[in-house]
Amino acid sequence: MRTPPRTPKGFMFDLDGTLILSNRKLGSYDAIPGAAEALHHLDDLGVPWIALTNGSAYASRVQAPRLRDVGIPVPDDRLFTPNSVAAKVIADGGYEKVLVLGTQGVTDALEELGVNCVSPDGDHKGCDAVYIAWHPDCSMPDIHAACEAVLDGAAFLTASDVPFFATKEGRSFGYSCAINGAVARVTGVEPQPTGKPSAHAMQFVASQLGLAIEDVGVVGDDATAEMQMAREGGAIGIAVTSGSTSEQEWAEQPASKMPDLVIANIGELAARTGLG
Ligand SMILES: [Mg+2]
Repeated sequence: MRTPPRTPKGFMFDLDGTLILSNRKLGSYDAIPGAAEALHHLDDLGVPWIALTNGSAYASRVQAPRLRDVGIPVPDDRLFTPNSVAAKVIADGGYEKVLVLGTQGVTDALEELGVNCVSPDGDHKGCDAVYIAWHPDCSMPDIHAACEAVLDGAAFLTASDVPFFATKEGRSFGYSCAINGAVARVTGVEPQPTGKPSAHAMQFVASQLGLAIEDVGVVGDDATAEMQMAREGGAIGIAVTSGSTSEQEWAEQPASKMPDLVIANIGELAARTGLG
């Protein structure tokens, strides 16, 4: 463990393994002990924070109340998902028709953010981007439609290309990563993630916090999702051992995913980062 090089001016928190543990079907949540108190403490100190999950199954306005039901005090407007970032990437890229491989919750979230979505069952001819997200019922015709679109030149975006996330039953695998693998294998085109650890996500976080990236503390349980994003972006990486990565596993990370600080859970955050 190292002492962080500087005190963060604000924080981004991961959800699964950092603030909560869900079950594999995302049907129920347990708060991680100390998480609620840590967030209240930051509010008392006037330190800004947001939550960014790589889970894309729900819109923030659907998921945030479920977090509050288990005591995690996350307002709707401080919870973000890869769909939030994707809407910005799609707008910035000028993409007008997006083929979505995801649940209705994914499509609802994107449409609320102004994205013109089509499904593999609909008229997706001429789509200029494909977006692959949480899609537990993905079928081979869905993959076929995505491959054809990418081969025709559509941009290949995805919520997450991280293989695992922490649940109550242990680590579970990310469906979008599996689907991305199928499409990439067929087309030879690699996906561009909008969630962690992408530069899109890091810039989005800093912008939401109103801070420079180097002043953001990125707090999470996953080396590839949060610590790689912090390292690549120049933020402060703060790892927890309450999720999918043990203290021993953190110590063995390569430099590209090594945290600045390892804590047991976010209950230790304020004291260990010099905020008191
Ligand atoms: Mg996590």
